[in-house]
Amino acid sequence: MYEYHDFYKKNFIFKIIQNDLKNKTHNVICTRFPPEPNGYLHIGHIKSICLNFFIAKFYKGNCFLRIDDTNPTTENIEYIKSIKKDLIWLGFKWDGKIKYSSNYFDLMYNYAIELINKNLAYVDELSIEDIKKYRGTLSTAGKNSPYRNRSISENLKLFQNMRLGKFSEGKMSLRAKIDMKSKNIVMRDPVLYRIKFQKHHQTGIKWCIYPTYDFCHCISDAIEGITHSLCTLEFQDNRMLYNWILKNISIKHYPKQYEFSKLQIEYGITSKRNINLLIKNKIVNGWDDPRLLTISGLRRRGYTASSLKNFCYHIGITKQNNTIQLSYLESFIKKELNKIAPRAMAIIRPLKIIIDNLSYKKKIELKVPNHPYDKNMGYKFIYFTKEIYIDNLDFSEKEQKNYKRLMLGNKVKLRYAFVIKAKKIVKDNNGNILYIHCKYYKNTLGLKINKKDKEVKGIIHWISCSYSQSVLFYLYKTLLNKKNINNTDNILSYINKKSLSIYNGFIEKNLLKEHQKKHFQFEREGYFYFDKKYSHKKKIIFNRILSLR
Ligand code: ATP
Ligand code: MG
Repeated sequence: MYEYHDFYKKNFIFKIIQNDLKNKTHNVICTRFPPEPNGYLHIGHIKSICLNFFIAKFYKGNCFLRIDDTNPTTENIEYIKSIKKDLIWLGFKWDGKIKYSSNYFDLMYNYAIELINKNLAYVDELSIEDIKKYRGTLSTAGKNSPYRNRSISENLKLFQNMRLGKFSEGKMSLRAKIDMKSKNIVMRDPVLYRIKFQKHHQTGIKWCIYPTYDFCHCISDAIEGITHSLCTLEFQDNRMLYNWILKNISIKHYPKQYEFSKLQIEYGITSKRNINLLIKNKIVNGWDDPRLLTISGLRRRGYTASSLKNFCYHIGITKQNNTIQLSYLESFIKKELNKIAPRAMAIIRPLKIIIDNLSYKKKIELKVPNHPYDKNMGYKFIYFTKEIYIDNLDFSEKEQKNYKRLMLGNKVKLRYAFVIKAKKIVKDNNGNILYIHCKYYKNTLGLKINKKDKEVKGIIHWISCSYSQSVLFYLYKTLLNKKNINNTDNILSYINKKSLSIYNGFIEKNLLKEHQKKHFQFEREGYFYFDKKYSHKKKIIFNRILSLR
């Protein structure tokens, strides 16, 4: 289930843990994966999942799944369900029950009161805009809020009234009293609680104040006994606040936060906010659109859990931000499917061929391997009949020099079958090609074609019309036409309008029945995956995972 890679275990976080164990700072390692349920998980999350679960497994510790649910405005149950489903699909099992940050709201409230009692927190009446204004910048110090020096008893009273719903949203907030002149802006009296009259998916209407990420995260880590709290680099500056909060409340356990770089992929979107933007603008059809790098999208596209995990173990864990090539991600599924995917022929852009010198009654049975190297995958029978389909791209009406496919007067070999020669084109009244008359050469079965052969131009794939099944092929290109997306980019201006093309074609008739796993390599076209969720009897869909080129 887990792939252990020696070099993965050499990343800097493993070194830290190794030391902590040696020095007996910890005896049992405890990590967590803490998604916010405001969207579906994406490939970036897999990087974090692999790290946290791998560590726990390797050091025989625990890894918890914690739903980090402090912002009910953007969260919902559907997202929690999808998170569980994706983790299970990846093959990871969290220890114990699922944890929710909201389980700790009572405790957090008490810790907030403790900070007020220590004169380390105060209720502020500045508006959100004013808090921002007072905060200062990287080069200028912040200014104290006029409400900063209230008495402890006044703060206690106001905070209680915040909780009782006596103030409207945005009117008050609880802030830590740290240092408005701190070099680290995060430390300039950060907000710990804000008012939100919002029903929560776990706690219902019990609360109308909710803790901020910074206040909630360190306390949740400490309550759960997390030893190494692993997060991405954008939280580097927040580490100081993380430690400040834990130091100033009466909690026994001190987790430590370590940061690593986020996974980014060329042309890919790894931000729930941006994915949501694409969904809202109907650029994709939901979170599991196969063009997205969400786990559910990648699954529908045909990526396997092992290929995704392998990829994440190979890119490793560092503090350097870098964007990974899409082809590197693809290489993992390609390598895997090359071994396990049965080969078959499929026609994406059908063009009908009529074999003149074969009668309608006749069918010629051909024995074909399911896999070119793996004989254990067995054989199947396909049929050569009077009417067959080839791909439109394998025929040229215009005469071209050195054309390696079918052309009037040209010969090509049909894969696993005979050599044919094109004799005549038949068109409808509008000039569209209806079919091509061809002749087949009986004695060419098993004939090996080499490059020097002047007679037979190439090998093309085909399907018998009588032994075919109509399907839709969904061929994908990247969603964006910009390689490296920055945080500040408006992704809507980089949408590739041709990211999806749908073709109505054919596959071999019994293909789906004969194979349990629904990954195939369609010869010359690429790796495809049967889209179980969106297919039905009358409409069978295949998603192209990647082409062979
Ligand atoms: P998004 O920007 O997509 O909303 P997030 O970081 O806000 O991502 P969370 O649900 O808070 O999403 O993330 C859960 C965990 O996954 C966090 O520990 C976070 O650091 C990690 N994570 C999120 N995105 C990536 C990424 N691209 N690469 C590695 N880890 C990530
Ligand atoms: Mg987020």
